Amino acid sequence: MKIAVARETREGEARVALVPELVSKLTTLGWRVAVQPGAGAGALHDDEEYVAAGAEVSEDALADAALVVSVGPLDVGTVRSLPAGTATVSFLPTGQNLDLVADLRDCGITSFAMELVPRISRAQSMDALSSQALVAGYRCAIVAAGMLRSFFPLNMTAAGTVPPAQVVVLGAGVAGLQAIATAKRLGAVVKAYDVRAAAAEEIRSMGAVSIDLELETLEGAGGYAREMTEERAARQRELLTPYIAAADALITTAAVPGRQAPMLVTAAMVEQMGPGSVVVDLAAESGGNVEGSVAGEIVRVGHAQVWGGLNVPAQMPGPASRLYAQNVVNLVTLMTRAGGDGDDEAAFAPDFDDEIVAGSCVTHGGEVRHEPTRQALE
Ligand code: NAD
Repeated sequence: MKIAVARETREGEARVALVPELVSKLTTLGWRVAVQPGAGAGALHDDEEYVAAGAEVSEDALADAALVVSVGPLDVGTVRSLPAGTATVSFLPTGQNLDLVADLRDCGITSFAMELVPRISRAQSMDALSSQALVAGYRCAIVAAGMLRSFFPLNMTAAGTVPPAQVVVLGAGVAGLQAIATAKRLGAVVKAYDVRAAAAEEIRSMGAVSIDLELETLEGAGGYAREMTEERAARQRELLTPYIAAADALITTAAVPGRQAPMLVTAAMVEQMGPGSVVVDLAAESGGNVEGSVAGEIVRVGHAQVWGGLNVPAQMPGPASRLYAQNVVNLVTLMTRAGGDGDDEAAFAPDFDDEIVAGSCVTHGGEVRHEPTRQALE
């Protein structure tokens, strides 16, 4: 029973799906671990580390593997080279990869998408959306602090007082709360807004001010936000304008599952920010919370430098890989039947009656199991 760790193929993807430290968690379950050469290089894990941890490193790592793990989805060529019945675990944004899902289905691959792991208590240790959002939120605050050519904290010195930076965070989910916590730790004055009622208490618990716009809250299913009507969006933008105009740094992290990121801040709002101000848009890749932001670039809007996030967790590949790998190991453990005495060998045996296994499965046995994706393919 072999598990293979694939080398990532997406440009700029520095993460790896398994770190050497966690190899033994799989070998003790009865897995043989094989790693493609250089798979961990971006996260500063060389091949020797994997070998020392008990893995084999080989260009043929994927051959005969029962399960292939990666961060991003495998490329089409690799999928087509896998024998039917092979399983894959990776992030798999199905909406943007319908052709690949069709290939996975037609090749008889059993594919699991980490972003589809249900966000229930029992699956918290497998929640890669949260672990990667934590990294991204931290990184956003650090980028804002680095780009702002001023202090985040208040400095009272013999030469005078430098006031603290004013930071506004929009979207206070996992990433936003981590951005708030990080900006607070650096000493900024932080105000934050989210459409979910529960977020206000969480913002305050981080020591930030919760911005109350006196608008209806927008709770959707599963603790997520609902989409706004255009009328409400316009009102929200109008009410947020003075907060943004007064901010030295604006960090946006708002998202609605399955939709383009909501456009929260127009270019006209950014143009009201002062000289030297910075904007960090974590959502740039999925449509952007800020008008004009470009994923992977810094653009100028008015006085502000606007930084658009592109695969932000991969910008801190060490901790992002460590956390992602732990999520993957926990999911794989759930799907592994431990061996007993005698001939009873350990086996990869996903139980499709388990809601975590069923919920995260995209394709199995020549069918698309994830209903919205199946419908999109029709
Ligand atoms: P997300 O990435 O989908 O969205 C980020 C944030 O953007 C959310 O807080 C959302 O409310 C906010 N947002 C959406 N539209 C907005 C708008 N127009 N203006 C301002 N903010 C807007 O969400 P996430 O961070 O992955 O998770 C959100 C919440 O889901 C968490 O805070 C938590 O309550 C819940 N959650 C539960 C579990 C679990 O039970 N295992 C795990 C993770 C998250």
